[in-house]
Amino acid sequence: MAPSRDAFRRMFRFKTARVTGADGTMTDYSRDDEVYIAGPNAVIDPDDVDQEMDERQLWRARILDIRCPDPEHPAQVWLEIAWYWTPAEFAKGVLKDFNPRVCGSKEIIYVFGAKLDIINCASLNGHATVDKYRERDHLRQEQIAEQDYYCRTEYDAENKTFKKKVVSSCLCKQQYIPDDEARMVFCPRSDCWTWYHTACLERRDLHFRAPDPAQLESLWASTQDDSAFDQFAKELEFCWERSQSLDIKAENQNDELSAVRTLARRPCMRGGEYGIVGNAGVVLRARYLLELVVRNREELPLAWRDFVWGDGGAWEMPEWEHMTETGEEGEERTISWVCPNCEGPI
Ligand SMILES: [Zn+2]
Ligand SMILES: [Zn+2]
Repeated sequence: MAPSRDAFRRMFRFKTARVTGADGTMTDYSRDDEVYIAGPNAVIDPDDVDQEMDERQLWRARILDIRCPDPEHPAQVWLEIAWYWTPAEFAKGVLKDFNPRVCGSKEIIYVFGAKLDIINCASLNGHATVDKYRERDHLRQEQIAEQDYYCRTEYDAENKTFKKKVVSSCLCKQQYIPDDEARMVFCPRSDCWTWYHTACLERRDLHFRAPDPAQLESLWASTQDDSAFDQFAKELEFCWERSQSLDIKAENQNDELSAVRTLARRPCMRGGEYGIVGNAGVVLRARYLLELVVRNREELPLAWRDFVWGDGGAWEMPEWEHMTETGEEGEERTISWVCPNCEGPI
């Protein structure tokens, strides 16, 4: 039986807990580690290759404290942990008026301050990865893969407040539901910096109409968030240093530039096939780079992909297919959306 909180506090504090698995492998766990803990109904079948099965049986938690009653015999190591709650469990067990339907299917909520548990280290089932989704950080946030669990909200159960809250956006003032199929388009101008559901813009006929695709694409390519330039300049400097230390052969500059151009001349989107985070960080970096190379006649660094895609690396972005409509005189027009705030094309 787990010790009481007072008894736990009187124990000796440990930096790490070492757990020997059934197969004899040893794993060290430290404070602040994110871990899997086997739920009460978990049956661990080592031959089970179906990841989904494991995911549902294992719960995620963060280690807050590690203690042991007798440092000479560290067999009974106890841990204080804070849980990651699924939205449904969170609504049931923590905050009654929370609506779990506004969360993504792999979204989990970190609860601290209260609702903590003391568990034996034998319940640990390996280190877990919980992606942090910093929703406001459109520029630096890396893409979150479809199969990964992520956390964007933290709830202080002692003071009953969200430490990290989900933001609402668009004309509809709804919060973003990450793996909803609804796509959102971003206005990156520094006065706007807002995501809009394409459906909400279309409902109000907030369409931008261009005579041809090339004109629209160059409007996109020149639309920037100039408040990000200092950050981009610093990253690019680092990319140049990296490029010089790399032993890779220079590709055909024209092919490379056309790859940058393809990324720059498209809208910033998230949701649906654009993934949870979307492509804003990638597209805006490509626009910045294109501007430097084409207008300022600077060179393209060899490692430009590292700069554009970031540490998370490239992911499969769908090709942009232009939307068209037929005008009153039968002419074909290329369309995109208009930002309701600045009224510029997005
Ligand atoms: Zn909306
Ligand atoms: Zn705008």
